[in-house]
Amino acid sequence: MRSARENRAPGSVQGPLGNWCLDCDGSNKLCVGFGMNKREFLKLLALVLLGNGTSAFGEKRNRVGIIASRRVVVIGAGLAGLAASRELMRAGHQVVVLEARDRIGGRIWTSNKWPDLPLDLGASWIHGVIGNPITGLADQLGARRLVTSYERAVIYNTDGQLLSEAKESQLDGIRRQMFDRLRKAQDSGMDVSVRQALASLEKKFADDPAVLRLLSFCLSENIEQEYAGSASRLSSHWYDSGKEFEGDDVLFAQGFKVITEHLAQGIDVRLAHVVKEIWWQESEVGVRTTDGDFVADRVVITLPLGVLRHNDVRFIPELPKEKRDAISALGMGVLNKCYLRFEQAFWPHEMDWLEYISANHGEWTEWVSFQWAFQLPILLGFNAADRGREIEAWSDGQIVASAMETLKTIFGAKIPRPIDYQITRWASDPFARGSYSYNAIGSAPGMRSALANPLNGKLFFAGEAANRDYFGTAHGAYLSGLRTAKDVLSA
Ligand SMILES: Cc1cc2nc3c(=O)[nH]c(=O)nc-3n(C[C@H](O)[C@H](O)[C@H](O)COP(=O)(O)OP(=O)(O)OC[C@H]3O[C@@H](n4cnc5c(N)ncnc54)[C@H](O)[C@@H]3O)c2cc1C
Repeated sequence: MRSARENRAPGSVQGPLGNWCLDCDGSNKLCVGFGMNKREFLKLLALVLLGNGTSAFGEKRNRVGIIASRRVVVIGAGLAGLAASRELMRAGHQVVVLEARDRIGGRIWTSNKWPDLPLDLGASWIHGVIGNPITGLADQLGARRLVTSYERAVIYNTDGQLLSEAKESQLDGIRRQMFDRLRKAQDSGMDVSVRQALASLEKKFADDPAVLRLLSFCLSENIEQEYAGSASRLSSHWYDSGKEFEGDDVLFAQGFKVITEHLAQGIDVRLAHVVKEIWWQESEVGVRTTDGDFVADRVVITLPLGVLRHNDVRFIPELPKEKRDAISALGMGVLNKCYLRFEQAFWPHEMDWLEYISANHGEWTEWVSFQWAFQLPILLGFNAADRGREIEAWSDGQIVASAMETLKTIFGAKIPRPIDYQITRWASDPFARGSYSYNAIGSAPGMRSALANPLNGKLFFAGEAANRDYFGTAHGAYLSGLRTAKDVLSA
């Protein structure tokens, strides 16, 4: 039989006094949540009830007792969580951010392994700088940015030869046909996957493997690398339902972390606090973590869609059906990066993008060179969707060897070995379980609003997946954090 205490929201015994710890820096293991651990608290409660409270609490009691504003727990110190926290703190709320990792940023993750170039293992680009809120933040900080351009791109055929002009125009024609079919599918009554929508085109080219490879390249380059979902899972009706900002795509010279570090200033972030349970139908909301229980008036949840789908956090009671349906219908895609560093660049220096029409679908089709923008001999290869997921099971050595096979096909067997590499595995990351969300067959954009809707005026949801217009992006995450802060303020 479960005890009464087990059935109670974690920390709910602390409710009557309020339990917001203004002194805790998160390093004090005795301090659980907003004041103290349960045993300490119960001892103090007994003292207060016995009339000895003042001396027992001392200064802390006074400070703990003054709660002029709402106590808000924000789960996740990624862009959405940090944006929401800042706004809520500005409005006078008391905010604590619970973050599972031992770093902030979430899917913004700048590696400093190579001291001369901070490398982004998560988001790299501000996609479309005009009107993009991340541009505004970067301007405030004076963060140096570098443009990469699709004008500086070169395409190699399967045998490694540069694509001839005739082949390039054939490729353009196939790309047009691909988008025509997808537009037609969007006008039809029944939603099918992107791959199903293109089945007739694949059939048309079935006797010509070289043309089929061009189609496979377009599918990988224009759709799977972009949306991170497999063509077999992406909804043809909704895969491209998001909006975009105009303007260049830019990289941060010091890495995207300049933004998250700036946003995190002054925020009480508790690292290494893995949230396990959320109790949300008491008068206060309880959050159980691996490092103690927290109680708040409002909780903002920015857990990635992959984490929600995997049921890593238990909601008590469970989330309503509309939200569960949205979580299971939307897709969590994969985009993985493999940075290779060489002594010197053996590829065309003036190009940002090197593209490859691979024999196998999605295999090392896109590369970014850091030679032009950063003057450094570094290549970044991508694998997305099914292929991106598949290679996560490989060893680093196997991934580097596979990347080098492609580069050797293009640039010759004598190219030098890389002197170092950095590889991501976002699907295996327990605190992301994928790279970013996509609209899967069976989902619809309204489900993102269902995901974002607050519950009981106490639980609020943010994160890239909860942004109907700009899902899958850094600015989408940031904007959803701002929107959720507004929801909390008006609740
Ligand atoms: C490889 C890759 C490339 C990308 N490229 C771009 C790009 O170039 N441009 C662009 O605009 N966007 C890009 N994106 C997308 C962008 O990074 C994300 O949309 C955005 O960072 C998501 O922010 P978020 O706050 O919603 O989620 P997150 O950043 O994932 O934040 C959620 C936080 O919750 C934490 N968490 C998870 N589980 C728990 C738990 N149980 N308890 C407590 N905390 C928990 C996580 O550790 C994380 O810190 C890319 C993403 C990836 C992975």
